[in-house]
Amino acid sequence: MINGILRIAVPSKGRLAEPTLTLLRAAGLPIPSDDRRLLVPIPDQNAEILFARTDDIPTLIRDDAADVGVAGSNQLLEHGSDGVEELTRLGFGACSLVLAVPGDSPIVGVHELAGRRIATSHPVVLRSYLAEQGIAAEVVTLTGSIELAPMIGAAEAVCDLVSTGETLRQNGLRPIETILRSEAVLLTAAKRRDAAGVDVLRTAVESVLAARPKRYLMLNAPDGALDAIIALLPGIDAPTVLPLARSDMHAVHAVVDAADLPRLLHPLKEAGASGLLVLPIEHLIP
Ligand code: AMP
Repeated sequence: MINGILRIAVPSKGRLAEPTLTLLRAAGLPIPSDDRRLLVPIPDQNAEILFARTDDIPTLIRDDAADVGVAGSNQLLEHGSDGVEELTRLGFGACSLVLAVPGDSPIVGVHELAGRRIATSHPVVLRSYLAEQGIAAEVVTLTGSIELAPMIGAAEAVCDLVSTGETLRQNGLRPIETILRSEAVLLTAAKRRDAAGVDVLRTAVESVLAARPKRYLMLNAPDGALDAIIALLPGIDAPTVLPLARSDMHAVHAVVDAADLPRLLHPLKEAGASGLLVLPIEHLIP
């Protein structure tokens, strides 16, 4: 941290770029969308955003060029960054690193890859998996179009990232094993883990992630139906019950899962609730 300014490394493009910006903005960093600079100051928050290639972010953190950053957990492992640690999983960018072979290949299990060539842009993770499994295969490192390698005779198998598996299927490849599951993570250097600015950002980000699947439900309940209405509410804690200006009703407030709302609203209404309001929650610290 230079002069108390937290430098946050953010993917400049690619799959993780947009969800990272959305998350950081929700966490309270007003990152402008029309700024073309690669280092953007956020003076209100004592922070600056360093836009970088996602693959480089673990290394930038290791080398003290950034205090925290976002990358795929696979990238943290691949760009072997001693002393760089995951602070929080971010719930987007989920994918798997899989081994796959052409649909018509006789290979069905990973041990049959011994003596074969495997094309990948994740040589570090692949080599460590092969070593763990005791499989002596040749790793062919390519930076792109991995799926093409078997078709052009460059490898007998591939090791590539997939989210739906559609790209593999379209290229006639059949997965045989998942070797890693990955998602976007907030990273920092181990030595900075407990630094004040890092903790502030981590708490803000985690509170946004915790709030996303939740809603704030408010309703009015006639006193005669209060217990029945409260019994319907799952809330994270006991609901808040407040007297209303009129004497025969109470207001009930509760935090509920957004996913529960469709099946909650009708029974609440049937039980006598009125004036139901459902609001988004921006931050939640349980
Ligand atoms: P980028 O190449 O900049 O788009 O980002 C690649 C990163 O996005 C990967 O290292 C993964 O962490 C993540 N990711 C999520 N889904 C996929 C996918 N289907 N293919 C490749 N990368 C993915």
